[in-house]
Amino acid sequence: MYEHDIWRLHFVCRVTINEAESPGDGVAGIDLGICNLATVSYGDESVLYPGGALKEDEYYFAKKRAETDDSASHEARRLDTKRTDRRTHFLHTLSKDIVSECSKRGVGTIVVGDLGGIREDENGDARNWGKHGNLDLHGWAFDRFTSMLAYKAEERGISVVTKSERNTSKTCSACGQSDDRQRVQRGLYVCECGLVANADSNGAENIRRKVLPNPPNEDRDNGWLAQPAVRLFDCSEGRFAPREQVVNREP
Ligand SMILES: [Zn+2]
Repeated sequence: MYEHDIWRLHFVCRVTINEAESPGDGVAGIDLGICNLATVSYGDESVLYPGGALKEDEYYFAKKRAETDDSASHEARRLDTKRTDRRTHFLHTLSKDIVSECSKRGVGTIVVGDLGGIREDENGDARNWGKHGNLDLHGWAFDRFTSMLAYKAEERGISVVTKSERNTSKTCSACGQSDDRQRVQRGLYVCECGLVANADSNGAENIRRKVLPNPPNEDRDNGWLAQPAVRLFDCSEGRFAPREQVVNREP
């Protein structure tokens, strides 16, 4: 521009911020499953994300799909596309909610249970675990969820690490023991050391501990493990919210 009898050249620089500042030093652990699609442990609080909305969708589309006479028809393809879109939307919403909740709580590292250890047993044979159901059917969700979570977390300066889930559902997160003194009944994990926990919360806490230097401490207050919060997918709003806030509306 020309001002005060001299020409000035103005440069505008756009700087891309590659490294977002980490929200804090906190560590969260995520256990992935079928009933609760994701269970997050923050070390003093646990949050469940039931997969009910996704499951209802799967039933709906499987039924509609069966009603079409020709599986190669335009209608069948339309249904497949719609189902995939809805799955994708659900997983995006889930990963976004978890990252946002982690950010609020000062979490800088998220540990996700890697299902590699569950897909295969000690001999390397694929097997079905009761808790995880049929992984052929659900493997897509876990893999897609983990990659969505990783890039959303990175944008917020949170790192995501995966650790083997091996033994995390069997081990007591309070005393660290994994023998015949523990049992899982109706979703509750009960150990002779006194721990009574939501089974998925206990698993998520064990996953969280995988990156922590300190061994479990029996004296720690772990009452929160028995009372996880629940965040439900609100179909009308298309987002997750605390269970109390989700109004059940007929579809
Ligand atoms: Zn124990």
